[in-house]
Amino acid sequence: MISAGDIEKYAYCPLSWWLSKQDKKVDSLEGVKSHEREGEELEDIRKKEVKKAYYNKLILALAVSASLAAVIGIIILPGVAEKENDYVFIVFSLIWLLNSIFFLYRAERISIVSLKLRYEKAILLSSMGAILIALIVILSSLPSNEEFSKFLEILALLWIVLANIIFYRSINLSEELLIKKLRYVSSDDNIAYIGIKKESPMLESSRYGIRGKPDYIIEKDGEYIPVEKKTGRTPKGPLFSHIVQLIAYCMLVEETFGKVEYGILEYDERKYFINYDERLKNTVIKLRENLVKDLKRGEAHRNHNREGKCMNCSRRDICPERLA
Ligand code: SF4
Repeated sequence: MISAGDIEKYAYCPLSWWLSKQDKKVDSLEGVKSHEREGEELEDIRKKEVKKAYYNKLILALAVSASLAAVIGIIILPGVAEKENDYVFIVFSLIWLLNSIFFLYRAERISIVSLKLRYEKAILLSSMGAILIALIVILSSLPSNEEFSKFLEILALLWIVLANIIFYRSINLSEELLIKKLRYVSSDDNIAYIGIKKESPMLESSRYGIRGKPDYIIEKDGEYIPVEKKTGRTPKGPLFSHIVQLIAYCMLVEETFGKVEYGILEYDERKYFINYDERLKNTVIKLRENLVKDLKRGEAHRNHNREGKCMNCSRRDICPERLA
């Protein structure tokens, strides 16, 4: 298995990669710290998203329970349950059921994941409405009980108050989350993986013989987008070696997570969206093959005549073939 980081160094200059195997001082301390900070922030975002989802479920459960308790409370209040009302309830129940069938039909036909989820939520709500109304009809046959009715109304009120408190906390959490999240992804996207964290699993591809950990992976409408952040000087365009590393991540993500259309190369001052195409994929495969050959030979050499490259090379001080 060859790491995407090694392929990146090899793409910059084979000798740079070779020297890096002996000289381990690579990333600047500032770069490492910045990566750690981002890793913690991304993890915090993920935890808050889980908390927000939990709050939403709790609010829904409390609201449904409170509505149910309130409705039952009204039904068993003496003088409320009348037989002729049953027909009205049955009609309403049928409307809700038809509503569920409509959304079920739409959810089956739509391929956009986010819309599908919305339709599925609508199905759930419509079915719950139908069940609730059917329940009212059944409960209307219960004997009246004023005391129990009052108890249920008070219980419903307490649950609604609790749901509101949680709702308020959920709004605060959403605002906080949105501000933090927008630094990395848009509000509707999810963070599927955080490679910056030390304990994150290494992604491996037995098919291509590569491994690595992209900084993080965004999940957007069922597609995955690896993101690689580069600290330090922002170049005028994306560097070839960085593109190669990102494409290696695209290959890993495609095999481990699913569909990949492009990856993001993020410098301090600019972001580049790099298309994941066959040409770049073949470049990565070819570079890996050359790297393995050099590894077997036990040597690697400069493959360019660019002084500027040597000027910016972090291994210039120990390089026997440097041009500058
Ligand atoms: S100084 Fe130049 S030749 Fe040497 S490793 Fe760096 S880029 Fe390659």
